[in-house]
Amino acid sequence: MRLLVPTNWDPALIEPLSRLEAGVDLYGVLSTSLIGTGGSSPEDVHTAKEQAEEYIRAARAAGLRFDYLLNAPSMSNMEWDKSTHRALLEHLDWICSIGVDSVTVTIPYLVELIKRQFPQLKIRISTIAHVHNVARARFFESLGADSINLDFHVNRDFKTLKGITDAVKREIILLANNLCLYQCPYEYYHHDGLGHASQSYNPVEGSYVDYCTMRCTLDRLSDMSQNMKCRWIRPEDMHLYEEMGIEMFKISGRSMPTERILRAATAYSSRHYDGNLHDILNALSPKTGFISAGPPGARTHTVAPPPELYIDNRALDGFIDFFLKQDCLSACGHCDYCRKAAEETIRFDPGEVDEYTARLTEALTSLSDSSVFRAETGDGRCGR
Ligand code: SF4
Ligand code: SF4
Repeated sequence: MRLLVPTNWDPALIEPLSRLEAGVDLYGVLSTSLIGTGGSSPEDVHTAKEQAEEYIRAARAAGLRFDYLLNAPSMSNMEWDKSTHRALLEHLDWICSIGVDSVTVTIPYLVELIKRQFPQLKIRISTIAHVHNVARARFFESLGADSINLDFHVNRDFKTLKGITDAVKREIILLANNLCLYQCPYEYYHHDGLGHASQSYNPVEGSYVDYCTMRCTLDRLSDMSQNMKCRWIRPEDMHLYEEMGIEMFKISGRSMPTERILRAATAYSSRHYDGNLHDILNALSPKTGFISAGPPGARTHTVAPPPELYIDNRALDGFIDFFLKQDCLSACGHCDYCRKAAEETIRFDPGEVDEYTARLTEALTSLSDSSVFRAETGDGRCGR
């Protein structure tokens, strides 16, 4: 078993990860880059290229492999622009020159380009490519992918997982500690927004609004069963996937603090965790206001982190068994398994949750009635 572990570029991650029983590949990306990334980067961490080069050298010297993210869902057609295309090739030259082992890619055209011109790089397909069935997995295999991160929505769909692992010869990777909503309706919009915000040629210079994270956090706190429907995999249940031949598990959370990344990696490496499952999941903190990729913290107003939930991991022994036969895609309208499990295993402070959801609702209202834009421009109008 191997783990794909996020880096927030803290050197303090390297030594403890190199000592884990599971082999580790680190993955990461600069907060702004040519192709960009569809995930959240660490707040206020602006690693320079030279620092990244030194970091990757140190990680490899410690026995860790490094995967560089090139996984924005689109490049706004800039890949067809001659000068941006030249910059794209230079960017890939730089990635090769600093000893990166593999890249994670969403855009099929980039898979073909890298395969042809940069064959020394292994190619992993991103979860953002939404590989959730046999046909799509085979398609990326035939394009030349070396491994495929599956869409995390299939994590508890054992019939589909079996079909994919039987049909495809490439390495399959599952995202283990994700706290995203099951069938999140904001997902495509979110990855798209993050992708464009992290691209160096973006015309609004990385500015965006964290609408999606505010919205999904509100949904999860307003209906606790959503926290159980999320497709996380408990460390204790990894053997079910290993028995299908899946040997690589990805931990999400490049924006998590070092301590939390290490806690999650250690739990998954040992296939066991006592205590609060929520502590090893990737719970994002929504930000209100306008976010800028410019100077650290500029124009960003972070709401306090969401209230801590306590999800008793030991009480979840056997929780996964129901999913071995359940077809969640068709049955969720008349199934209350996750609601009952939430009632039995999640503890929280209702007053704290109410106060937090009220603040999120207020921030979201200021977006839907456009008042936040009037406040931002100070002209009393909202552009209509
Ligand atoms: S659940 Fe939240 S963080 Fe995950 S994809 Fe949806 S909006 Fe984004
Ligand atoms: S179908 Fe049942 S088990 Fe599956 S996500 Fe919905 S409530 Fe949970």
